[in-house]
Amino acid sequence: MAVEFENFDFDPEQLREKYREERDKRLRQDGNDQYIEVKGEFAYFEEDPYVEEKIIRDPLNKSIEVAIIGGGFGGMLAGARLKQKGIEDILIFEKGSGFGGTWYWNRYPGASCDIESYIYLPMLEETGFTPKFKYTNAPETLEYCKVLSEKFGLYESSCLQTEVTSCDWNETEKTWVIKTNRDDVINAKFVVHTNGPLSKPKLPSIKGINNYKGHTFHTSRWDYSYTGGDSNGNLSKLADKKVAIIGTGATAVQCIPHLGLGSKELLVFQRTPSPVDVRNNTETEPNWIANQDKGWQQERVNNFESLLSGRMVKEDLVKDGWTEMVRMFVSALRTKAPSKSKYLKWTLQGLLKKDFYLKGPKSYLLTKTAQEVDFAEEMQMANFNKMEQIRSRAQTIVEDPDTAESLKPYYNQMCKRPCFHDEYLQTFNLPNVSLIDTDGKGVEEITDKGIIFNGKEYEVDCIIFATGFEVGTGFSRQAGYEINGVEDMTLTKKFESGAATFHGMHIKGFPNSFFFGPIQSGYTATYTYALDQQSIHLAYIVDVLKKRNLSFIEATKEAEKEWISEIIESSRMMADFQENCTPGYYNNEGKINNIPQNNRYGGGAVAFYELLEEWRSKGNLEGLEIH
Ligand code: NDP
Repeated sequence: MAVEFENFDFDPEQLREKYREERDKRLRQDGNDQYIEVKGEFAYFEEDPYVEEKIIRDPLNKSIEVAIIGGGFGGMLAGARLKQKGIEDILIFEKGSGFGGTWYWNRYPGASCDIESYIYLPMLEETGFTPKFKYTNAPETLEYCKVLSEKFGLYESSCLQTEVTSCDWNETEKTWVIKTNRDDVINAKFVVHTNGPLSKPKLPSIKGINNYKGHTFHTSRWDYSYTGGDSNGNLSKLADKKVAIIGTGATAVQCIPHLGLGSKELLVFQRTPSPVDVRNNTETEPNWIANQDKGWQQERVNNFESLLSGRMVKEDLVKDGWTEMVRMFVSALRTKAPSKSKYLKWTLQGLLKKDFYLKGPKSYLLTKTAQEVDFAEEMQMANFNKMEQIRSRAQTIVEDPDTAESLKPYYNQMCKRPCFHDEYLQTFNLPNVSLIDTDGKGVEEITDKGIIFNGKEYEVDCIIFATGFEVGTGFSRQAGYEINGVEDMTLTKKFESGAATFHGMHIKGFPNSFFFGPIQSGYTATYTYALDQQSIHLAYIVDVLKKRNLSFIEATKEAEKEWISEIIESSRMMADFQENCTPGYYNNEGKINNIPQNNRYGGGAVAFYELLEEWRSKGNLEGLEIH
């Protein structure tokens, strides 16, 4: 287990200064434009290497009730929740050969999930599935996607290996016309867009990137025909290869240990180190799930999400690196609080109270006594302490002192995705593995033979891009199709000066559409939980409309306007935190305050889903025009 609540000696002012320096080094004017779109000459980076058999079928031409675009957990859960309500006339469009979304594409060696499987895999009670480990891996997750899809008869309602190319509102028929790359023309009463926030791989716009003559691929399209092995590793074909990997985010942290073991030589090009904590995976105890009471999974999810939202719980059921992090922060407040009531006030939940973010953290703090002001500082001290723990782990594990120093992240926890791995740091002790730390600059140039950094050319047989996915770019670029709404308004045009939604799900001008995703919605690292909550909400609305014999919904102008204000206000505190972070996709590459409404709901995921539940309990579909 991780060292709990150990106190490290540090000088807060020095750390503050160091964090600022490291952030400023990485801030760049071009933000998201530092990446190039995977298309044209780069299109092969997005090709599906996993297709076993090409599906041959005639084009479809028919009318249906609900079209779901995307067959990841969002599409599967939307389908399952609709079917639970007896809404059977659905069709799921998915470009991969099977369900799974992110888990279909990300099969790189070591791919696995850091959120406990007992909460990450949704509907375990309904499917009766028992994950083998506390943290499941990609093959088991993909297997679970099959189990879930079969349980709810989703294969019969799917169009796999099919890409949607357009989605147009037909005002006369009041339906959506969906076209695909297989010449399908589908008229759907309702459309669910669940395209995944991390679905389009991105490439850094490095000088000469298209000159490279060796082998190359992106981690989300792993080329096992070149590397050998599978998701469990054993990359035997790399035994005589010199391999370079660019990027050290959560994906790289998981595949680098396998590359280190398999390659003749491995060069890791790092721009910013990830915070890598203890993982400590364990096997699921036999009969543990079978012995749980009914409703156990939801209770466990609620417990975990409450803690992550900064709420107090009687017992931490999950007890892992995520919850330890929060307990550490909360404990720091507890020891400083002069009384129980003050302590409660100081919890993270207190931080997220409306008067705090409405007035903005600074003015709120100015109205408080000196003693009360301490809590923000105490939170920062707890964060420094947590990161010192992570840095000290790198120091202890990595033998070469310079490499150890380069692997220490200097930014606050939650600025980047926390990582948990028990072999990553150890990989840098292998004689065939070298870390090329670019000190925040990134790779300079790619030649026909390899990579240049600091004037030196590193010749390699293969370059692997672990450079992540498009997050801050527009909907149609990421999804691969445009949506033409009422009066031919495109979604791109509608979002030109910022996202505009009601509850993140409904958009004025795009009737009968449901958008799943984090923008203007609740967000949590347990992304399947967010998708399930959105699916429950969708199924409720479609069911209500059906029961009332209605067939049209659209966000009202007022509801949309109010929701945008709510998002701007509620995300202000989060934006302040993110502004001080080193750049990455968590903070829109350092340009967090450019468009404040392109944010998630700042009150936390649990509060957001409670808000939706309360909305549903009123039963009047407030904020939506219906007929
Ligand atoms: P990320 O966007 O997190 O990482 C991209 C990496 O590429 C960063 O290290 C980035 O550096 C680096 N990079 C970008 N441009 C350059 C350049 N020009 N030169 C050198 N390096 C460069 O993508 P990932 O695929 O790693 O992860 C995406 C998300 O997927 C995670 O945040 C997480 O949500 C999810 N995930 C979860 C996992 C889990 O459960 N464990 C595992 C894998 C993914 P810099 O930081 O400086 O920008």
